[in-house]
Amino acid sequence: MANKNDKKVLIRIQNLKQYFPVKKASFRDKEQLFVRANDDISLEIYEGETLGLVGESGCGKSTLGRTLLQLYNQTDGRTMYYGCDIDELAPEYVFNTLDNLVSERRKLTDLQKKEAEALKVFESLPEGDEQYHALDKLREAEKQARKAYLDITQLIGGLFVADDLAPVSKILLKEYNTSIEARKLRNKINDEQIKMEGEKSVLAEKGKSESEINNEVQKYLSNIKNHENELAKVEKEMEAIQVDIEKLRAKYSDHPDFAKNDKYRDKGIDLARLKIEEMRYLRKDMQLIFQDPYSSLNPRLTVGQIISEGLYSHKIFAKTDKKVQDYILQTMEDCGLAPYFVHRYPHQFSGGQRQRIGIARSVALKPKFIVCDEAVSALDVSIQSQIINLLLDLKEKENLTYMFISHDLSVIKYISDRVGVMYLGNIVELSTTEEIYAHPMHPYTEALFSAIPTTDVDDKKKAVILEGDIPSPIKPPSGCKFHTRCRYATDICKKVAPTFEEARPGHFVACHHKLNTAD
Ligand code: SF4
Repeated sequence: MANKNDKKVLIRIQNLKQYFPVKKASFRDKEQLFVRANDDISLEIYEGETLGLVGESGCGKSTLGRTLLQLYNQTDGRTMYYGCDIDELAPEYVFNTLDNLVSERRKLTDLQKKEAEALKVFESLPEGDEQYHALDKLREAEKQARKAYLDITQLIGGLFVADDLAPVSKILLKEYNTSIEARKLRNKINDEQIKMEGEKSVLAEKGKSESEINNEVQKYLSNIKNHENELAKVEKEMEAIQVDIEKLRAKYSDHPDFAKNDKYRDKGIDLARLKIEEMRYLRKDMQLIFQDPYSSLNPRLTVGQIISEGLYSHKIFAKTDKKVQDYILQTMEDCGLAPYFVHRYPHQFSGGQRQRIGIARSVALKPKFIVCDEAVSALDVSIQSQIINLLLDLKEKENLTYMFISHDLSVIKYISDRVGVMYLGNIVELSTTEEIYAHPMHPYTEALFSAIPTTDVDDKKKAVILEGDIPSPIKPPSGCKFHTRCRYATDICKKVAPTFEEARPGHFVACHHKLNTAD
């Protein structure tokens, strides 16, 4: 999935919400309150980039990182992942949508009606409080309709225009079922290969000759061959189905709305709709590095065992395969850990070394995306730079993509390609590091960045003092959530939430009175 600048999108978040229910103080409390940790966040993360997230503590940046990894049940919104093909995973939600295309489209029509009604109400009201309230409702209705529309068009694209969706459903379900068959066969081939490598290792240890080993593993080779033949047949069947799908698409391609709908067709995976075991399959792709490595390392396991755990559970190596030792030692070396550490326990290491172990455990699985949640915040400054440089080296070597969460603006500036600034559950500004530090457009970003200590004696910039406390994320202020602390706030800020929009190329901001617009 490439965007307009040809950067490949790895993750696309649309209108993501993560709310946590607040425990009621008494059974008489009627209203269920929520902590709005992430409140309507939209964002793209490109392959190979480091996206820095900054903001005061409690702004929801860690929650965003964890929600992306589906460690929480996302409350609302879409989180699309493009590091793995939908055909490869064949998740069940695809089956459910394709099987119920007719009712799904009917649901969408109802939501679109609600949206049109909300627009009518909004337009009929004079400017004022009532209209601002109607605008909130309109935006919500738009989001719900958009989400339902994307859920369908992502899978059927231009075929959305077909009057009769039954044949569309039939052929796409056939494609889906064939993908499942192919996935099962690929898994079987992988399992046999892992078992064979494990057995070879055991036999070599017993001192068997190469020809004896080859004889012993014949059964695996023949199983693999059989599965490969079956897979070839299934892939041929897939090709035939593709031809039929293209024929059906050609039938509708002249429809005036075909292209409009077809541009939303893609092979990304909607992470929030995956079942636990489907998400488990993607866990190796998407890793988390914690702030406190000690609490995330099992004290009863040695470094070697800690790194090998994931390798076995994700079926990268068989437990009997002796090659795993070399692999672990190589990973440790890549992460700056001496080979003799392999049999030591976490308590025998310093904070920096433990963080290296945490990193080694993650990168051993060859992930595509890593959330680094305050990964260096607990370390001494000298160790911080070593860990940051290690992360940058690994990123280069393994083509990793990072979301780097930190409250330390200097660290974020050093490591990030782009920076997102969060305030009370929202991303209020997002741009390239150079641009955002040179031209902050949001008053909160301006205040945050003005507090960075500088060694430049000629720097006459005054620190902008943020007045007041962060408001409660349970009942955030109306309109722009920052208005209670913003020195530029006007009447509209108190009533209407600003939209997150592209103010300069690649520079997004949510503010009614953007700063530095003339530069
Ligand atoms: S919208 Fe208004 S209150 Fe919010 S940041 Fe902009 S100027 Fe300040």
